[in-house]
Amino acid sequence: MTLTPERTRRSSAELIAAEDGVLAHNYHPLPVVVARAEGVWVEDVEGRRYLDMLAGYSALNFGHRHPDLIAAAHRQLDALTLTSRAFHNDRLAGFAEGLAELTGLPAVLPMNTGAEAVESAVKLARKWAYEVKGVAPDRATIVVADGNFHGRTTTIVSFSTDETARGGFGPFTPGFRVVPYNDLAALEAALDETTAAVLIEPIQGEAGVVIPDDGYLAGVREATRRAGCLLIADEIQSGLGRTGTTLAVDHESVRPDVLLLGKALGGGIVPVSAVLARSDVMAVLRPGEHGSTFGGNPLSAAVGSAVVDLLATGEFQRRATELGEVLRGGLTALLGKGVVGFRSRGLWAGVDIDPAIGTGRHISERLMAEGVLAKDTHGSTIRIAPPLTITEEELATALAALEKSLR
Ligand SMILES: *Cc1c(COP(=O)(O)O)cnc(C)c1O
Repeated sequence: MTLTPERTRRSSAELIAAEDGVLAHNYHPLPVVVARAEGVWVEDVEGRRYLDMLAGYSALNFGHRHPDLIAAAHRQLDALTLTSRAFHNDRLAGFAEGLAELTGLPAVLPMNTGAEAVESAVKLARKWAYEVKGVAPDRATIVVADGNFHGRTTTIVSFSTDETARGGFGPFTPGFRVVPYNDLAALEAALDETTAAVLIEPIQGEAGVVIPDDGYLAGVREATRRAGCLLIADEIQSGLGRTGTTLAVDHESVRPDVLLLGKALGGGIVPVSAVLARSDVMAVLRPGEHGSTFGGNPLSAAVGSAVVDLLATGEFQRRATELGEVLRGGLTALLGKGVVGFRSRGLWAGVDIDPAIGTGRHISERLMAEGVLAKDTHGSTIRIAPPLTITEEELATALAALEKSLR
């Protein structure tokens, strides 16, 4: 079916009304209809331009349509797009080798979305607990943190502490223990002979870029080692350059047993996620026990390889570190001027707005009117996560728009 010219000419307002009539209402988007994008800039149907300070929740770490990534995708579209894992494809080995080298974890399980990577890790940890640790059948537990966000499947919302994400979706999957985030003593107290793993975000993105105290992640690593359970780091949002290092756990030189990547791994082109693990852990999965029709497909592998190549240069991590300082300086200057607090690492910030000025949603709408796209999270917090390709000048433009929107 080809779209009629009539349809492609619909205005933003008409398209929003049309979506409203036909789509599930599980989102509340800002009223902007994006039609084109390049780098950090997006353009709407009427040709208005906006700086993208959300970057697809960090799926667009390299900006929109990065030339290397688009070229890799085009090349692969002309050669091979899908085989299924019933056969080998000539792109998967290189992708997996590159990812293993980049992260230091030698075994790779390719999936598609972040939630699938989390689900896969839950299965992997449980199987490891029964086969290696010797946990009694069906007794394995996984310890998670309060305020977590790991995705939207029924098992994952089973251990969410967000009532909006959980409410009405029971019965829930058992086998999870929730402890307060950033409380090492509480976490240690929850570990016992049934514990398969601790599953944690090194920085909680959806919760509002919540950064634990220095030493917490190293403490979790030590506690999991002592308890003889796995440490699973969900770096689906925090990883791949965002915080100034390849992984957020690198800030504390922590090596997890299992690492989850997604979002930016697909270069903003295709959904690509991966579970990386120690070889002896991944070895518990044997043929037929887990899989995915699309996981590791040649198009995803080609784009993912190009993402790994970009990160191997170190340029994006460097930019996130340097421009992260500029971001921090700009936000510090706004303290007391509508900003009541913020947390940031690299090019990633959760900015708490004075509730007297407006909700996060109001500020996002005002930012949009100033030509900047950002998204609120949890009431009065705005999340700032531009593409890592942003220039200092563009970042200054965004900060100026934020200042104006707070007046
Ligand atoms: C986005 C996200 C997920 C889920 O990824 P999807 O691709 O949306 O399924 C899981 N964990 C974290 C930390 C995330 O930010």
